[in-house]
Amino acid sequence: MDLREIGEFGLIARIRKWMAASDPYLIQGIGDDVAVIEMGSKALLVTTDILIEGIHFDRAWIDPYRLGKKSLFVNLSDIAAMGGTPKYFLISLGIPKNLPFSFVSLFYRGLKDGAKKFQVDLIGGDTSLSKKIVINICLLGEGKKQNLLFRKGARVGDDLYVSGTLGNAALGLKILQKKGLRGRPKGLVEKHLSPSPRIQLGKAIGKHRWATAMIDVSDGLLIDAKHLLEESKVGARIWEDRIPLSGLYRKWIHSYSKDHYQLALSGGEDYELLFTAPIQTRGKISALARSSKISITRIGEILPQKEGFYIIKKDGKEYFPPRLGFEHFK
Ligand code: ADP
Ligand code: MG
Repeated sequence: MDLREIGEFGLIARIRKWMAASDPYLIQGIGDDVAVIEMGSKALLVTTDILIEGIHFDRAWIDPYRLGKKSLFVNLSDIAAMGGTPKYFLISLGIPKNLPFSFVSLFYRGLKDGAKKFQVDLIGGDTSLSKKIVINICLLGEGKKQNLLFRKGARVGDDLYVSGTLGNAALGLKILQKKGLRGRPKGLVEKHLSPSPRIQLGKAIGKHRWATAMIDVSDGLLIDAKHLLEESKVGARIWEDRIPLSGLYRKWIHSYSKDHYQLALSGGEDYELLFTAPIQTRGKISALARSSKISITRIGEILPQKEGFYIIKKDGKEYFPPRLGFEHFK
């Protein structure tokens, strides 16, 4: 069998079956944004992400300083998605022989500034020769057990919310692919090169305890929503015209795509938070959006699993898009 047939997520599902874990202190193994291990009244959170040159980034577009920050921030986003606090990280690097020393030192300067901003410390790693740059970070964090939010808690009747706006990073990438660093507007390009994890918002959502499930939007709204729905064993509908779009996205999307919403629905790397909460908490969620100064938009509702997962277009038609988002091997 070819990996293209099962894709990244089909492969992970098989690995999960082969390697079924049984430790009683393991609260969450494979199948969420981070692994969760019970440590008394607290929980240890562990997550890892890999960035490979030519697959996740292109040296022509991203400078080493931004690359250092981004490598850390994509991991921080997974801790944000649990409502946890990031603490320590390890970094393993594969480095080509001819890479200038200044690249590595600038990379670490970005990493250091990113680590300072979110109060995490580098505690180790590994270094090896490699044909292309490979960056792997393993991030450790903590959280109160009762405050953590998993992909699996959504209930039928819950509302579905997303923070911020969607599609900016994917549109930024399209601009880079077409025009390189001369591409405009800078604001969209920057969203792709310098994402920002929603650590404070994630912690606030966890602390309030009204949310039922959460995930970060890293591969695309629809595919990440699908992960949340599958783990919760529910379905959902999303109203397309409620998808939050930035002013810049609205202004520039037509130069790059005929479909107004497609990139916002299936483009990756926004690192926003997607979560569910019972309808009785709508007022509290509006209050949190006001106090945190981050928009939170109600974009859909949770349905029984048998009703499936679909989008309602502006004209009321139900629609299931053929491509949900980014998946390796597909
Ligand atoms: P995210 O997009 O939040 O980083 P992923 O889709 O990468 O999550 O991973 C989903 C789940 O699968 C996570 O629990 C992750 O740790 C696990 N996972 C991914 N790749 C592997 C692998 N090669 N072996 C074991 N577990 C994996
Ligand atoms: Mg994630």
